[in-house]
Amino acid sequence: MSKEQFELTDEVMYVKGVGPRRAEALHKLNIFTKYDLLTHYPRAYENHSSLTKISDVFEGEQVLIVGRVSNITSREARGLTIINALLKDETGYIRLTWFNQKYLLTKLRNGMRLLIIGKAKFDSWSGGLALNQIQSTTILEEDEEPALGIVPIYPSTAAISQQVLRAAIKNLLNSMPPLTEILPQKILDAQELISLDEAMRAIHFPRDFFELDEARRRLAFDELFLIQCGLMLIKRQTRDERLGITHKKNGALVKAALAKLPFDLTSDQKKSFREISKDMESKLPMRRLLQGDVGSGKTVVALLALLKTVESGRQGAFMAPTEILASQHYEKFSALLTDLGVRVDLLSAKVTRTKKSREELYEKISAHESDIIIGTHALIQEGVKFANLGLVVTDEQHRFGVTQRATLEKKSDAVPDMLVMTATPIPRTMTLTVYGDLDISQIKELPPGRKPIKTEAKTTRGRKKVYDFVRAEILAGRQAYVVCPLIEHSDSEQLANIESAEEIFDKLSRGIFRDVKCALLHGKMKPRDKDDIMEKFRDGEIKLLVSTTVIEVGVDVPNASVMVVEHAERFGLAQLHQLRGRVGRGAAKSHCILISDSKADVAKARLEILERTNDGFKLAEEDLKLRGPGQFFGEAQHGLPDLKVADVFRDVELLIQARDAAEKFITDDDNLNYFANLRKNLALAYGDKFNQITAG
Ligand code: ADP
Ligand code: MG
Repeated sequence: MSKEQFELTDEVMYVKGVGPRRAEALHKLNIFTKYDLLTHYPRAYENHSSLTKISDVFEGEQVLIVGRVSNITSREARGLTIINALLKDETGYIRLTWFNQKYLLTKLRNGMRLLIIGKAKFDSWSGGLALNQIQSTTILEEDEEPALGIVPIYPSTAAISQQVLRAAIKNLLNSMPPLTEILPQKILDAQELISLDEAMRAIHFPRDFFELDEARRRLAFDELFLIQCGLMLIKRQTRDERLGITHKKNGALVKAALAKLPFDLTSDQKKSFREISKDMESKLPMRRLLQGDVGSGKTVVALLALLKTVESGRQGAFMAPTEILASQHYEKFSALLTDLGVRVDLLSAKVTRTKKSREELYEKISAHESDIIIGTHALIQEGVKFANLGLVVTDEQHRFGVTQRATLEKKSDAVPDMLVMTATPIPRTMTLTVYGDLDISQIKELPPGRKPIKTEAKTTRGRKKVYDFVRAEILAGRQAYVVCPLIEHSDSEQLANIESAEEIFDKLSRGIFRDVKCALLHGKMKPRDKDDIMEKFRDGEIKLLVSTTVIEVGVDVPNASVMVVEHAERFGLAQLHQLRGRVGRGAAKSHCILISDSKADVAKARLEILERTNDGFKLAEEDLKLRGPGQFFGEAQHGLPDLKVADVFRDVELLIQARDAAEKFITDDDNLNYFANLRKNLALAYGDKFNQITAG
């Protein structure tokens, strides 16, 4: 196949061995193009270096066996096709059982030579060992030597087998012309990296573990390098082309607000505001991250910064991740600021639903008849034009992409200052990658007088007691959350015995909470319905809210005093901490109960950490120590695409190298030839995440 005919953006359906039906299964894995398939990297590898004789098979051990098949039979049981057979080699027989691999029936014939990879378990039917966890079945020609070596294991679903994935990727690699190098030779030499083409082939089918390491290092470097280049291009665009805003020293308005607050700032809040003020008074655009645990009082600091921009004669925008949060901030801000003559507006879906009210508000904003505008993503929509934007605050930044941030920045002639707030304790290396080196302020202490949340881990055996307790709290006038990991029931192997939010809601609302107003809330609901339920919960009409992690981000319902988390082992520690921050906001003593039957030591140890400490930073540190960086963030929440190969904790050194290389690369005009390619790769890898730079 010639190079012109091969495009990585071609649909995956056109890969040999895929076709329309399998393409559909691949779509479920987010694989749509050849590029997606090419970068569907193995999640693990198995070293199939030697064959096992049937007489040497042990229970539970992963084995590779070559033998001849006979006595093939099949039956249906509970909608499942079960195929049985015998496998024979020169040392003996073993029984084979395949579950749900009906297609094998059309292929297998008695007497064929097979290469089987799988695990043996005791089998009550035959009274001996049987290979009943078969991962791979390969039919061998009479004289064919089995392919041994390192075998990739891909992230997959029941709908598509490892063999099919392996074959598809192999076919893709075989039909693919050598990949164009994206890095200049200088960088390859300096970093001692293998070529992109070699790396891409070796990550799937490495000859040995040494080659695999090299491939991984190269691809990890690329990921980090590309992201760094992308971030630097954004930064250069905003920092070089236009100047920032020089804000005035803090004046009467900030002082008046401070005097009006019903409390004194904590010393960390003061320090953070000092740092922010200093940035805002400088003429370079501020790029600052305000990190502070749930409830540490970031909002007040943001409010002061917004007032600072108002008294410098500018407008401030405050972007919240959800409608409900935006309206909550709006209410609090209005209560404090209306007396001070500050005009606060809420740009919500409700307001913008009718053309008239929408245009009225847009008009107010562009005529500078509004000083502080609070809203969600709606703030960055086309029609919104600020007269004089001085500061943009984004709350819980990890929900917003880098691009959205950049879009908001473009809504002004001068580059507005930017403050990003997050409750997630983000390690330094992470901020380097994701935030492109923002400056950081931290609030480490909680305001005085907070009652710590009592956290307890329980097993399902204690569930009845737990819900009796929840019921008692509700009858005493308080409210409760129940958080579940899944929305609806899943039949996939790993998830089948997890009760979904829907199931738990049904059980609770028809059972022990029959006479209590319950509601179900999850991410697949319409935003309007979600808001409606959240509002009713906030107003105390709904007493028990069964939900997924959609409630994770910042709603304030002080009357909610209990949270039960089902299948707690399925959540990231940082996420659980953020979740439990939803209770403990009022006067009542609050409880968080983590239900888990997980027997794994790490899972247990993690829940114990939560029982022990309420300090988000300490918790993050311990979690990292305990199980490595892997799922620290739970599902990718940081706005940027997931890193597929690189690991920001393990690859710290590589990250720094990639950063330096990116810096040199971007500033070296000799590299102009490579720029087009760089953009193309950014687009391939990250779609429109970086679109405004890839378009330029
Ligand atoms: P978060 O950091 O999670 O955004 P908030 O800003 O919502 O936290 O603050 C949580 C609560 O603490 C709010 O009700 C706020 O009024 C209160 N608060 C903030 N700062 C102080 C302080 N210095 N002293 C007492 N209460 C405070
Ligand atoms: Mg907050």
